[in-house]
Amino acid sequence: MADIGLTGLGTMGAALALNIAEKGFSVAVHNRSRERTDALVEGAGDLAANLTPLDDLAEFATALTAPRLIVMMVPAGAAVDAVIEALLPRLDEGDTLIDAGNADFNDTRRREAALAQKGFGFVGMGVSGGEDGARHGPSIMVGGPEASYERLGPIVEAIAARYQGAPCAAWLGPDGAGHFVKTVHNGIEYADMQMIAEVWGLLRAAGRAPKAAAELFAEWDEGPLRSYLIEITAKVLAAADTETGEPLIDVILDVAGQKGTGRWTVIEALKLGQSASAIEAAVGARSWSSEVAARRLGEDRLGAGEASPRAILDGDLEKALLAARIIGYSQGLTLLARASAEFDWSLDLARIAEIWRAGCIIRSALLDDIAHAARDGLAQNHLILAPYFADRLAETVPALRRVVASAICSGDPVPALAAALSFYDTMRRARGTADLIQGQRDYFGRHGFQRRDRDGEGFHGPWAD
Ligand code: NDP
Repeated sequence: MADIGLTGLGTMGAALALNIAEKGFSVAVHNRSRERTDALVEGAGDLAANLTPLDDLAEFATALTAPRLIVMMVPAGAAVDAVIEALLPRLDEGDTLIDAGNADFNDTRRREAALAQKGFGFVGMGVSGGEDGARHGPSIMVGGPEASYERLGPIVEAIAARYQGAPCAAWLGPDGAGHFVKTVHNGIEYADMQMIAEVWGLLRAAGRAPKAAAELFAEWDEGPLRSYLIEITAKVLAAADTETGEPLIDVILDVAGQKGTGRWTVIEALKLGQSASAIEAAVGARSWSSEVAARRLGEDRLGAGEASPRAILDGDLEKALLAARIIGYSQGLTLLARASAEFDWSLDLARIAEIWRAGCIIRSALLDDIAHAARDGLAQNHLILAPYFADRLAETVPALRRVVASAICSGDPVPALAAALSFYDTMRRARGTADLIQGQRDYFGRHGFQRRDRDGEGFHGPWAD
């Protein structure tokens, strides 16, 4: 009998199955179409001994130790519902289905509640690290009934990445908590990727060749910016196209796809009365990137920007990226704290930062410091207010300001860097400009306002008569 079942043997599912098999667990594997199952087993080498390929769902279910653990690794949405529907008649009370794909946490909450009524467990489990991570050690964010983690935990912790020996996997909270944390992880990833791309854009505008920029990113990867995304940026910029010999970056079309997690982060932030503005800017920038025809016409009709010197120091770019990265993480963590309060999840932000230290796409040198700051408690749920990060920002924000100002003057777009800076500047002013907004709202809609000099609300301006 197999310890665990896995259905959906695409890029991630196949890699995860091999990882589980390698850690000594027996895995029953299934896929909608037979070819992928065959390919997995044929390429598994010695690990095939721990894989039981099954074509038929009924046989797949019978091959599993009770109560069953079944991992689904299929695209979000209708595919997950279809797989659940197909598996349900083959399940017994106490069995647990685990959705290890990226899912909208609202769907996960709905599925968990529906399956709980039927006596089944449902776990929403975020897995980060891409194919290589899934194969050799991802970061794993588990949500759902805590009891499910008793049997699932040992498997998940065995296959996860390790940071100084500790597994980068944890049960984080009930129902949709795991998928929500994974969603916000991806939101932070969107922001970080966009900020890095904006810095590359500034280097390119200043005439830096891809190879030279690659060297700069590789150098930054040795300092405070050290992270997976900076490391792969250096590699992407250094790569040559095998067909033309040109720098690969000059061959790749500047259109970025998206599957939904960035958008979900922004939607949930807005629903919670928040704005993760750096993430929002990154999602927006990907959308604008797809408007190729409009941008080409725009270059014709609107001009490519005003020509002015673009003398930005490399050291400023490094510091600017660091400041913006801290602000991106900070917005993500605030969102997690707000969701935790809203859904009663008691999320442990420090534990989340800890399991992001290895295996996942946003792993970076900063995360250990973030975990420490979160362990001490984040004032008002803002990382930027933690003394350590307030100091780091004091050192780096002046560079972010110079970089954004210079980019704006030269007409180079930096939507995420600018959004990060504006958020920082907003949060360091006790007195903002919403006084005027309140005045305007009262003028046209009698909405009333609060006064600075006394308690109470519902005051009106002299226009009320
Ligand atoms: P792939 O496209 O490589 O594989 C998709 C798998 O789902 C295939 O096995 C496919 O079966 C199966 N499938 C699709 N639709 C259905 C359906 N209606 N019923 C049954 N099976 C179905 O996807 P990935 O492995 O890349 O992604 C899987 C999940 O993991 C997604 O939720 C994704 O967002 C998430 N993820 C992906 C990462 C990545 O880097 N790729 C990273 C982290 C998470 P068939 O062979 O029959 O088509």
